[in-house]
Amino acid sequence: MIRIENLHKSYTTGVNKLHVIKGIDLRIEAGELVSIMGSSGSGKSTLLNIVGILDNYDQGSYHLDNMLITEMSEKKAALLRNKYIGFVFQSFNLISFKNAMENVALPLYYQNVSRKKRNIAAMEFLDRMGLKDWANHLPNELSGGQKQRIAIARSMITKPKIILADEPTGALDTATSYDVMKLFKEINDLGITVIIVTHEKDISEMTNKIIRLKDGLIESVNGTKILVEDHVNEMSNV
Ligand code: ADP
Ligand code: MG
Repeated sequence: MIRIENLHKSYTTGVNKLHVIKGIDLRIEAGELVSIMGSSGSGKSTLLNIVGILDNYDQGSYHLDNMLITEMSEKKAALLRNKYIGFVFQSFNLISFKNAMENVALPLYYQNVSRKKRNIAAMEFLDRMGLKDWANHLPNELSGGQKQRIAIARSMITKPKIILADEPTGALDTATSYDVMKLFKEINDLGITVIIVTHEKDISEMTNKIIRLKDGLIESVNGTKILVEDHVNEMSNV
Protein backbone atom coordinates (compact mmCIF):
# COMPACT_ATOMS: atom_id res chain seq x y z
CA MET A 1 0.00 0.00 0.00
CA ILE A 2 2.75 2.44 1.06
CA ARG A 3 6.32 2.07 -0.21
CA ILE A 4 8.90 4.66 0.69
CA GLU A 5 12.51 4.46 -0.40
CA ASN A 6 15.43 6.64 0.69
CA LEU A 7 13.14 9.55 1.47
CA HIS A 8 14.66 12.96 2.18
CA LYS A 9 13.00 16.24 3.04
CA SER A 10 14.42 19.61 4.07
CA TYR A 11 12.74 22.82 5.06
CA THR A 12 14.29 26.08 3.92
CA THR A 13 13.62 29.20 5.94
CA GLY A 14 15.59 32.17 4.68
CA VAL A 15 19.18 31.03 4.29
CA ASN A 16 18.77 28.10 6.69
CA LYS A 17 18.17 24.59 5.43
CA LEU A 18 16.90 22.07 7.95
CA HIS A 19 17.29 18.43 6.92
CA VAL A 20 14.30 16.79 8.61
CA ILE A 21 13.83 13.41 6.88
CA LYS A 22 17.25 11.91 6.27
CA GLY A 23 16.80 8.72 4.25
CA ILE A 24 13.77 6.72 5.34
CA ASP A 25 12.80 3.33 3.94
CA LEU A 26 9.34 2.17 4.92
CA ARG A 27 6.72 -0.28 3.76
CA ILE A 28 3.23 -0.45 5.14
CA GLU A 29 0.90 -3.12 3.79
CA ALA A 30 -2.86 -2.76 3.36
CA GLY A 31 -4.69 -3.45 6.61
CA GLU A 32 -1.82 -2.68 8.98
CA LEU A 33 -2.27 -0.77 12.26
CA VAL A 34 0.94 1.20 12.71
CA SER A 35 2.25 3.84 15.08
CA ILE A 36 5.06 6.27 14.42
CA MET A 37 6.79 7.15 17.69
CA GLY A 38 9.51 9.63 18.45
CA SER A 39 10.27 12.73 20.41
CA SER A 40 9.16 16.18 19.37
CA GLY A 41 10.99 17.38 16.27
CA SER A 42 12.02 13.90 15.10
CA GLY A 43 10.09 14.34 11.84
CA LYS A 44 6.90 12.40 12.56
CA SER A 45 4.44 14.99 11.24
CA THR A 46 6.64 15.72 8.24
CA LEU A 47 6.66 12.03 7.32
CA LEU A 48 2.90 11.70 7.86
CA ASN A 49 2.22 14.79 5.74
CA ILE A 50 4.28 13.34 2.90
CA VAL A 51 2.38 10.03 3.18
CA GLY A 52 -0.87 12.05 3.15
CA ILE A 53 0.19 13.99 0.00
CA LEU A 54 -0.05 17.20 1.97
CA ASP A 55 3.63 17.93 1.43
CA ASN A 56 6.35 17.18 -1.12
CA TYR A 57 9.68 15.43 -0.58
CA ASP A 58 13.10 16.26 -2.06
CA GLN A 59 14.69 12.92 -2.76
CA GLY A 60 13.84 9.22 -2.90
CA SER A 61 10.45 7.84 -3.82
CA TYR A 62 6.99 7.32 -2.43
CA HIS A 63 4.58 4.85 -3.99
CA LEU A 64 0.97 4.72 -2.85
CA ASP A 65 -0.94 1.72 -4.17
CA ASN A 66 1.90 1.25 -6.73
CA MET A 67 1.52 4.81 -7.96
CA LEU A 68 4.56 7.08 -7.80
CA ILE A 69 3.59 10.11 -5.76
CA THR A 70 5.77 12.94 -6.94
CA GLU A 71 5.35 16.65 -7.58
CA MET A 72 1.82 17.15 -8.85
CA SER A 73 -0.80 19.87 -9.06
CA GLU A 74 -2.77 20.64 -5.91
CA LYS A 75 -5.87 19.52 -7.80
CA LYS A 76 -4.46 16.05 -8.49
CA ALA A 77 -3.15 15.76 -4.93
CA ALA A 78 -6.60 16.68 -3.59
CA LEU A 79 -8.23 14.05 -5.81
CA LEU A 80 -5.83 11.36 -4.59
CA ARG A 81 -6.30 12.39 -0.95
CA ASN A 82 -10.05 12.31 -1.37
CA LYS A 83 -9.90 8.84 -2.89
CA TYR A 84 -7.42 7.21 -0.52
CA ILE A 85 -6.89 9.07 2.71
CA GLY A 86 -8.73 10.26 5.79
CA PHE A 87 -7.02 12.61 8.25
CA VAL A 88 -7.39 13.01 12.00
CA PHE A 89 -5.49 15.72 13.90
CA GLN A 90 -4.67 16.46 17.54
CA SER A 91 -6.68 19.69 17.49
CA PHE A 92 -9.66 18.04 15.73
CA ASN A 93 -9.80 20.78 13.04
CA LEU A 94 -13.57 21.01 13.10
CA ILE A 95 -15.29 24.04 11.61
CA SER A 96 -16.59 26.00 14.58
CA PHE A 97 -19.72 27.42 12.93
CA LYS A 98 -20.86 24.11 11.47
CA ASN A 99 -22.68 21.51 13.54
CA ALA A 100 -21.47 17.94 14.08
CA MET A 101 -23.42 16.53 11.14
CA GLU A 102 -22.22 19.26 8.76
CA ASN A 103 -18.61 18.74 9.86
CA VAL A 104 -18.82 15.01 9.21
CA ALA A 105 -20.52 15.61 5.84
CA LEU A 106 -17.98 18.17 4.59
CA PRO A 107 -15.64 15.81 2.61
CA LEU A 108 -18.65 14.69 0.54
CA TYR A 109 -19.33 18.31 -0.41
CA TYR A 110 -15.97 18.25 -2.21
CA GLN A 111 -17.12 15.09 -4.01
CA ASN A 112 -20.22 16.99 -5.23
CA VAL A 113 -22.59 14.76 -3.28
CA SER A 114 -26.01 16.41 -2.78
CA ARG A 115 -26.74 17.96 0.61
CA LYS A 116 -29.47 15.43 1.33
CA LYS A 117 -27.27 12.43 0.56
CA ARG A 118 -24.26 13.72 2.46
CA ASN A 119 -26.35 14.49 5.54
CA ILE A 120 -27.83 10.98 5.48
CA ALA A 121 -24.33 9.52 5.26
CA ALA A 122 -23.08 11.82 8.02
CA MET A 123 -25.89 10.70 10.32
CA GLU A 124 -24.94 7.07 9.68
CA PHE A 125 -21.33 7.69 10.68
CA LEU A 126 -22.34 9.79 13.69
CA ASP A 127 -24.55 6.89 14.76
CA ARG A 128 -21.63 4.48 14.44
CA MET A 129 -19.61 6.79 16.71
CA GLY A 130 -22.48 6.89 19.24
CA LEU A 131 -23.08 10.58 18.54
CA LYS A 132 -26.39 10.65 16.69
CA ASP A 133 -28.00 12.74 19.42
CA TRP A 134 -25.27 15.37 19.06
CA ALA A 135 -25.78 15.98 15.33
CA ASN A 136 -27.09 19.53 15.75
CA HIS A 137 -24.49 20.66 18.25
CA LEU A 138 -21.62 22.97 17.44
CA PRO A 139 -18.05 21.85 18.26
CA ASN A 140 -17.79 24.19 21.29
CA GLU A 141 -20.74 22.36 22.86
CA LEU A 142 -18.89 19.04 22.74
CA SER A 143 -16.18 17.41 24.87
CA GLY A 144 -12.72 16.68 23.48
CA GLY A 145 -13.55 13.00 23.08
CA GLN A 146 -16.76 13.80 21.24
CA LYS A 147 -14.95 16.24 18.97
CA GLN A 148 -12.35 13.62 18.10
CA ARG A 149 -15.03 11.03 17.35
CA ILE A 150 -16.66 13.56 15.02
CA ALA A 151 -13.30 14.13 13.35
CA ILE A 152 -12.91 10.36 12.98
CA ALA A 153 -16.40 10.08 11.49
CA ARG A 154 -15.44 12.85 9.04
CA SER A 155 -12.25 10.99 8.11
CA MET A 156 -14.26 7.81 7.44
CA ILE A 157 -17.11 9.25 5.39
CA THR A 158 -15.29 9.06 2.06
CA LYS A 159 -14.51 5.37 2.75
CA PRO A 160 -10.73 5.86 2.60
CA LYS A 161 -8.22 3.04 2.36
CA ILE A 162 -5.89 4.75 4.84
CA ILE A 163 -6.50 6.80 7.97
CA LEU A 164 -3.61 9.07 9.03
CA ALA A 165 -3.81 10.42 12.56
CA ASP A 166 -1.31 12.97 13.92
CA GLU A 167 -1.26 12.83 17.74
CA PRO A 168 -5.01 12.05 17.79
CA THR A 169 -4.99 11.53 21.57
CA GLY A 170 -2.65 14.42 22.34
CA ALA A 171 -5.44 16.66 23.65
CA LEU A 172 -7.42 13.94 25.46
CA ASP A 173 -7.32 12.44 28.96
CA THR A 174 -6.17 8.84 29.36
CA ALA A 175 -9.60 7.17 29.46
CA THR A 176 -10.82 9.12 26.43
CA SER A 177 -7.54 8.38 24.62
CA TYR A 178 -8.11 4.67 25.09
CA ASP A 179 -11.69 4.99 23.77
CA VAL A 180 -10.34 6.75 20.68
CA MET A 181 -7.72 4.02 20.21
CA LYS A 182 -10.47 1.40 20.48
CA LEU A 183 -12.24 3.19 17.63
CA PHE A 184 -9.09 3.11 15.51
CA LYS A 185 -8.81 -0.62 16.19
CA GLU A 186 -12.40 -1.15 15.05
CA ILE A 187 -11.69 0.89 11.92
CA ASN A 188 -8.59 -1.21 11.29
CA ASP A 189 -10.70 -4.37 11.75
CA LEU A 190 -12.70 -3.21 8.71
CA GLY A 191 -9.49 -3.60 6.69
CA ILE A 192 -8.53 0.06 6.65
CA THR A 193 -4.84 0.83 7.06
CA VAL A 194 -4.36 3.06 10.12
CA ILE A 195 -1.20 5.06 10.84
CA ILE A 196 -1.04 6.92 14.13
CA VAL A 197 1.68 9.41 15.09
CA THR A 198 2.17 9.62 18.83
CA HIS A 199 4.84 10.28 21.42
CA GLU A 200 2.94 8.28 24.04
CA LYS A 201 4.30 4.78 24.62
CA ASP A 202 1.02 3.28 25.87
CA ILE A 203 -0.79 4.53 22.77
CA SER A 204 1.82 3.09 20.41
CA GLU A 205 1.61 -0.25 22.25
CA MET A 206 -2.02 -0.53 21.16
CA THR A 207 -0.87 -0.80 17.53
CA ASN A 208 0.62 -3.83 15.79
CA LYS A 209 3.76 -2.17 14.45
CA ILE A 210 5.78 0.52 16.22
CA ILE A 211 8.10 2.56 14.03
CA ARG A 212 10.43 4.69 16.09
CA LEU A 213 11.89 7.82 14.52
CA LYS A 214 14.95 9.63 15.77
CA ASP A 215 16.39 12.73 14.13
CA GLY A 216 14.74 12.00 10.80
CA LEU A 217 15.73 8.34 10.61
CA ILE A 218 13.99 5.11 11.58
CA GLU A 219 15.70 3.95 14.74
CA SER A 220 13.73 0.75 15.27
CA VAL A 221 10.70 -1.25 14.14
CA ASN A 222 8.89 -3.18 16.89
CA GLY A 223 11.94 -2.70 19.07
CA THR A 224 14.36 -4.17 16.53
CA LYS A 225 17.11 -1.65 15.90
CA ILE A 226 17.74 -0.56 12.33
CA LEU A 227 21.52 -0.79 11.96
CA VAL A 228 23.33 2.52 11.80
CA GLU A 229 25.35 1.14 8.87
CA ASP A 230 22.13 1.04 6.84
CA HIS A 231 22.01 4.79 7.11
CA VAL A 232 25.68 5.51 6.43
CA ASN A 233 25.25 5.96 2.68
CA GLU A 234 22.35 8.36 3.14
CA MET A 235 24.22 10.26 5.85
CA SER A 236 27.26 10.77 3.65
CA ASN A 237 25.03 12.43 1.05
CA VAL A 238 23.86 15.05 3.52
P1 ADP B 1 7.47 16.01 15.00
O1 ADP B 1 6.10 15.87 14.40
O2 ADP B 1 8.17 14.71 15.19
O3 ADP B 1 7.46 16.82 16.26
P2 ADP B 1 8.00 17.68 12.68
O4 ADP B 1 7.97 16.78 11.50
O5 ADP B 1 6.82 18.52 12.93
O6 ADP B 1 8.38 16.82 13.96
O7 ADP B 1 9.24 18.67 12.57
C1 ADP B 1 10.56 18.24 12.37
C2 ADP B 1 11.44 19.45 12.31
O8 ADP B 1 11.12 20.25 11.19
C3 ADP B 1 11.33 20.37 13.52
O9 ADP B 1 12.61 20.86 13.83
C4 ADP B 1 10.42 21.46 13.05
O10 ADP B 1 10.68 22.66 13.72
C5 ADP B 1 10.79 21.57 11.58
N1 ADP B 1 9.65 21.99 10.75
C6 ADP B 1 8.45 21.38 10.67
N2 ADP B 1 7.65 21.99 9.77
C7 ADP B 1 8.36 23.03 9.28
C8 ADP B 1 8.10 24.05 8.30
N3 ADP B 1 6.93 24.12 7.66
N4 ADP B 1 9.08 24.95 8.05
C9 ADP B 1 10.26 24.89 8.67
N5 ADP B 1 10.59 23.95 9.59
C10 ADP B 1 9.66 23.03 9.90
MG1 MG C 1 4.26 16.52 15.04
